[in-house]
Amino acid sequence: AALPPRPHVVLVASPGAGHLIPTAELARRLVAHHGLAATLVTFPDPSAPSAAAPSSVLSSLGAAGVSTAALPAVALDDLPADAHIETVLLELIGRSIPHLRAMLRDIRSSARLAALVPDFFCSTVLPLAAELGVPAYIFFPGNLTTLSLMRSAVELNDGAAPGELRDLHADALRLPGGVSLRREDYGDGFQDSKAPVYTHLIEEGRRYRAADGFLVNTFHDIEPATVEELEQVVEQGTFPPAYPVGPLVRPSSDEDDVSSACLDLEWLDRQPAGSVVYVSFGSAGALSVEQTAELAAGLEHSGHRFLWVVRMPSLHGENSDMGKSHRRGEDDPLAYLPDGFLERTSGRSLAVASWAPQVRVLSHRATAAFVSHCGWNSTLESVAHGVPMIAWPLYAEQGVNATVLSQNVGVALRLRARADGLIAREEIAAAVRELMDGKEKGRAVRCRAGYLREAAARACAPGGSSWQMLKEVAGKWTAATLGRQEQ
Ligand code: UDP
Repeated sequence: AALPPRPHVVLVASPGAGHLIPTAELARRLVAHHGLAATLVTFPDPSAPSAAAPSSVLSSLGAAGVSTAALPAVALDDLPADAHIETVLLELIGRSIPHLRAMLRDIRSSARLAALVPDFFCSTVLPLAAELGVPAYIFFPGNLTTLSLMRSAVELNDGAAPGELRDLHADALRLPGGVSLRREDYGDGFQDSKAPVYTHLIEEGRRYRAADGFLVNTFHDIEPATVEELEQVVEQGTFPPAYPVGPLVRPSSDEDDVSSACLDLEWLDRQPAGSVVYVSFGSAGALSVEQTAELAAGLEHSGHRFLWVVRMPSLHGENSDMGKSHRRGEDDPLAYLPDGFLERTSGRSLAVASWAPQVRVLSHRATAAFVSHCGWNSTLESVAHGVPMIAWPLYAEQGVNATVLSQNVGVALRLRARADGLIAREEIAAAVRELMDGKEKGRAVRCRAGYLREAAARACAPGGSSWQMLKEVAGKWTAATLGRQEQ
C-alpha cells in the first residue's frame, strides 16, 4: 500500500533576504529531518532587493523536496511615495491575505495540512490558521533577546489605546538573561512611542499572542540565561512559548550559482589561512560617503588583508537602503571609494560590488574575522563557522544584536562612534588589529568564537538541543493531524 502523504506545513516568508533565507532553511530541515512535507510561500518583493540571493535560495529548495508558491502582486500605488518600508510590507501582506487563503484551501484539498508558520512580519496571517483549524507558529528570524524586547514593549502597553502608548523609557533596559540595553540600541522602531512604526510594532506583538508558539532562530548556548529565564516566564503565560531551533544557516553549496557572478572566490583561495577580514553590511546596510572613506582608511591602515562588499553609499545619512530599488544596478558602488584606494590595496585586498556568497566566504579557510552590521543571519553564519566579529550595527534590531554579542556572548568587539556619529579610521584600524592579533580582548573573542562554532554544530546535530526542539514541535503537529483525521 502507498504510504500516507506526509503532514504538510506551510511557511510564509515576508520579503527581504534576511527573512527568506532562514525561513527557507527551516522548511528544508522540517522536510529533511522531521518527516514533514512543506510549501514555502513568498510575496512579490516591493523593492526587489538583492535579486541574486532570493532566487538562488528558492531554486535550491526544489531539490530539497520543499515546494514553493509565489503570491500574486497586489496594488500598492495608493501608498504615499515616502511610506516607511514597514508600512509598505504590512500593507502588502494584509492585502495578500485573500490570495493566501485561496492558496491554503487549495493545498488543503490535496494534502494533510499540519501547521501554518508565518514569519514575524506576517502575524496578520494567523487568523487563517484558526479558520483552517491548524496550529500556528511564528517563525522569528532574530534572537530571543529581540523577542523579549518586543514582549516588554507589548506588556508595558497592555490595554493602552494607539494614542496613549508608553515609551520604553529606561536609560538601560534590563531584559531576561542579564542583558542590559542602552536606549540607542533598542532599534529604530522602539525609539519613540508617538511614531507610527512603534504603533505597528505593538500591534504586531499583540497579534503574536494568538500564536501557539514561536520558532526562534537561536540556540541555547548563544543565549543560555535568556533561554532558561524565558522558559520560566512563559509559564506565567502572557506570551506563547518560544522554541530555539537555530542556527538556521544554509549550506554554502546553496550559493553556487551566485558566486560566479559576484565574486571571484579564487582570490580568497590564494590568500593564506586565517588572514582575511571580511567586511559586509548585509542586504540593505548603507554608510554615508564620509563614513565609507573612513572605513576605507581604517582597513588600509590596519595592515591586514580584507574582502569588502561595498554597497552604494547613502546620500542623506540613512543607515539602510531597504525599500529603495532605484539606484540598484545602475551605479557602481566602487566608484564612491576614495581616490587611489583600490590601487593602493590591490593584491592584498579585494572590493566587490553589492553582494558576495557570504556563507562560502565565512566558511573559507582564509577568512579570519568579520566586520558586520550584526544582522542576525550574518551573525549566525559567522558563529557557525567560528569567525569572530567586529560589531557595527546600523538599523533595525542590529544594536540589540551588537550588545548581546559584545557584552553577553563575547564573540564581538564593538566599535565606538565619535560624538558626531562617525566611526573614525583609528578606531576601525585598532579594532581590526585587536581582533586579528590582540593578546587579551582579541584573544578572548577568538576563543569564544571557536567554542560557539562547536556549540552551534552540536545544537543542530541529531539529538542536539535545537534538533530536539524542532522534533518536538513537528511531532506535535503530526500527532494533531492524525487526531483530526480520526475525528
Ligand atoms: N547576504 C549574502 N551576501 C551579501 C549580503 C548578505 O549572502 O553580500 C546574505 C547573508 O548571508 C544573510 C542575509 O543575506 O543570510 C542577510 O541577513 P541578515 O539578517 O544578516 O541581515 P539583513 O540583510 O536582513 O540586514
